[in-house]
Amino acid sequence: MPRVMIECPETHRMIYTGVNLNWNSFEGAKIGEQTVPCPACGAVHRWTRADATIDEVGTAD
Ligand SMILES: [Zn+2]
Repeated sequence: MPRVMIECPETHRMIYTGVNLNWNSFEGAKIGEQTVPCPACGAVHRWTRADATIDEVGTAD
């Protein structure tokens, strides 16, 4: 299933939020403010659906 990604504000890398949704679920999902421990910079980032994108090729795991 596609992975929900956000951009790390420190490194500007795309990081995996730990959430998996397909586009239909993503559009309809009521995602509040989430947090994710960032693998790129080590900080914890807050994000909402407005910050998120779907990594459509990231279906391997
Ligand atoms: Zn980060």
